[in-house]
Amino acid sequence: MSLPQFTLLRPRTLQEAVGALGKHASNIRVLAGGTDLIPSMRQKLFEPKYVLDIRQLAELKGVYHHPGGGVSIGALSTLTSVEHSEFLRKHYPVLSEAAATVASPVLRNMGTIGGNICLDTRCLWYNQSLTWRKGCGFCIKKDGDLCHVAPGGTKCWAAFSGDTPAALLCLNAEIELASESGVRRMPLRDFYTGLGDTYRTLQPAELLTRVFLPESLADYRGAYRKLRVRGSIDYPLAGVAVVMKRSNGQVADVQIALTAVNPAPVLVKGIQQLLHGKAVDDQLADAAAVLAAKTAKPLTTSALTPEYRREMIRVFTKRVLLEISGQWPVVSGR
Ligand SMILES: Cc1cc2nc3c(=O)[nH]c(=O)nc-3n(C[C@H](O)[C@H](O)[C@H](O)COP(=O)(O)OP(=O)(O)OC[C@H]3O[C@@H](n4cnc5c(N)ncnc54)[C@H](O)[C@@H]3O)c2cc1C
Ligand code: SF4
Repeated sequence: MSLPQFTLLRPRTLQEAVGALGKHASNIRVLAGGTDLIPSMRQKLFEPKYVLDIRQLAELKGVYHHPGGGVSIGALSTLTSVEHSEFLRKHYPVLSEAAATVASPVLRNMGTIGGNICLDTRCLWYNQSLTWRKGCGFCIKKDGDLCHVAPGGTKCWAAFSGDTPAALLCLNAEIELASESGVRRMPLRDFYTGLGDTYRTLQPAELLTRVFLPESLADYRGAYRKLRVRGSIDYPLAGVAVVMKRSNGQVADVQIALTAVNPAPVLVKGIQQLLHGKAVDDQLADAAAVLAAKTAKPLTTSALTPEYRREMIRVFTKRVLLEISGQWPVVSGR
């Protein structure tokens, strides 16, 4: 499991970084914290000729509040800094909760929010060593032309398995992408394609630079729950993020997003229509939970069965809705 040969580039400015991306776009990978990229390179999932280590770009670090204009978070902000930001904890709790559940403290010290957003999709048949994959047969996502999960199909169903994007989708986050030709800003929900192989719309010569949270969603109640095999370290196998604003005990605004059960993190459609203007009770929470479970389309991309993962989406959604509307005691789901 040695690393393949590559040339390491260490730009000192954003301009140098996007210049290098533009020059080597067809054969380069960005390295932020490296907590996912390096293991994947050891497994020979990626063998780029160049690795662009962006860790020296200080301008991409930090959480900034722009009064009246929301918050910007640099793509290189570590998950620990997002987890421990007093401001985010107070005003955007769903995001700090999601960040706090990623991997383990050591990995959160290295891993960045940008890397979490750009994270590769995962599958039992893909996140394996080269020897393992050779032995079992390559698949559509890398080097092959069949899918072990959905035999006969032509599509890859690998699951997007990052925690913070579910929280960010609930918060209507936007992202900024920089390249030699300038900067573009887009809603995070448009970043993911819904395909397991070509899962993001990031162009090879683009760098994710910032994440923006709108002021209008500050102070919403929120929570994130995830299912994983080892509570202390693992990627999510099902994750639910919820944000809600109430007025006179009734739902004034609500968003629910899921992760790790589809090839992209997804918002649950129809949840606003179902809950708006109503007080959440057991029956309503049940109905919302069923809608969330229908949105989840897990396949056998992990060791846990799709049925169990979908069921846990239902369970978490109901629990969180009742918790944040004050009807159940808060139980940590980490
Ligand atoms: C044992 C283990 C457990 C883990 N558990 C979890 C978990 O529970 N939840 C979870 O979400 N993740 C988990 N991870 C994955 C990883 O630690 C996190 O997702 C982390 O946030 C990745 O960030 P990074 O900065 O290390 O990304 P990197 O590894 O540096 O990069 C990840 C990908 O994003 C690209 N990239 C990174 N930054 C940018 C940028 N600014 N612009 C463009 N492309 C970029 C890289 O090229 C690469 O393709 C786990 C990893 C390990 C090894
Ligand atoms: S879903 Fe199919 S094509 Fe995609 S990684 Fe898994 S086995 Fe490969």
